[in-house]
Amino acid sequence: PFFKEFNANIFPDSAKLLAKLNANENPYGPSPKAVEAFKNATPLGNRYAWRELFDLMGKIAVKEGVKMENVMMGPGSSDLLEKTAMVLFANGGNVVSADPSYMSLIRVAEATGASWKPVPLKKDWSHDLKAMEEAIDEDTKLVYICNPNNPTGSMTDHAELVDFCSRVSEKVPVFVDEAYMGFLEDGDKKSMVSLVAQGKDVIIARTFSKIHGMAGLRVGYIVALESTLDKIQEITRGGMGITYPSVYAASASMDDIEFQNKSRKLNAECREFVYETLNKMGYEYVPSSTSFILFPIEMDGEKFLEKMTAEGVGVRAFDIMDRNWCRVSMGTMDEMKVFASALQKVLV
Ligand code: PLP
Repeated sequence: PFFKEFNANIFPDSAKLLAKLNANENPYGPSPKAVEAFKNATPLGNRYAWRELFDLMGKIAVKEGVKMENVMMGPGSSDLLEKTAMVLFANGGNVVSADPSYMSLIRVAEATGASWKPVPLKKDWSHDLKAMEEAIDEDTKLVYICNPNNPTGSMTDHAELVDFCSRVSEKVPVFVDEAYMGFLEDGDKKSMVSLVAQGKDVIIARTFSKIHGMAGLRVGYIVALESTLDKIQEITRGGMGITYPSVYAASASMDDIEFQNKSRKLNAECREFVYETLNKMGYEYVPSSTSFILFPIEMDGEKFLEKMTAEGVGVRAFDIMDRNWCRVSMGTMDEMKVFASALQKVLV
């Protein structure tokens, strides 16, 4: 592995933090309509939410232009990343992904007995699709692509990715994690989900944790070929881990377009503020398509985290290509101002 994370205390006492910018949470959520739906559904929680879950899957299928049979639900997309890894790597093999990228699926693949074939991102922080294709061998069971990528926030060219997924999925399934796609104005057009309807063996992961601001309510889904989902669901169960009220909250949140637009707009304003702050300080950054920004710091990551925490600001730090980096999530504008003052104090 080329990148490592500095030992962040990602669960500091939230009460002690003035700005909690360490877990890419949406500070505005959940949508008031989702909260209302959740509350109203709580007294019905003596029941399993089967029919309600099917209704939600039907709604998601319409949005994604697929059949209900192409949708598998989970308590957050983490559950589905992990289940996919457990099933596909039950007999070993390897997973090809970018380095750095989001490690949840890869860690479970490794624990299940697979090996990781990391392929460094290109200089412009996009996926090196050519090198990834070359890295595929007879033991490769899955290619994992996080787009936009975490922890970099960067996007890979749409047309190139469509071409890659279409061709490569003939040999091996391609998992595209689109957790942050909702923060793009044209996220629906940039998604790879239409490839599923075209019969391609791609698995698209989406979550209610980010643009919908429901990280603590735990709802996510994957869209894939029925045959692929059959394999995963032969030994695991989709949707079983989602609570009854969360099913209602997710459905209400899908209808609250106004809330999603507000989250997107305020997130973009905070990104602009952080870019300006970094520009003024003479720092570079990776242009972000997400709700977080990665930028290099001229300080040991561990020491940086300690100092930022002492200022009441929670962020994350990484060692990427022998350089120290900070990843800061977009909070409210007030939180970003606290972050900016802390940064100026800590990095002088
Ligand atoms: N995928 C990516 C790229 C993420 O950054 C995250 C969470 O931070 C997840 C998946 C998992 O989120 P959840 O389980 O809340 O859907």
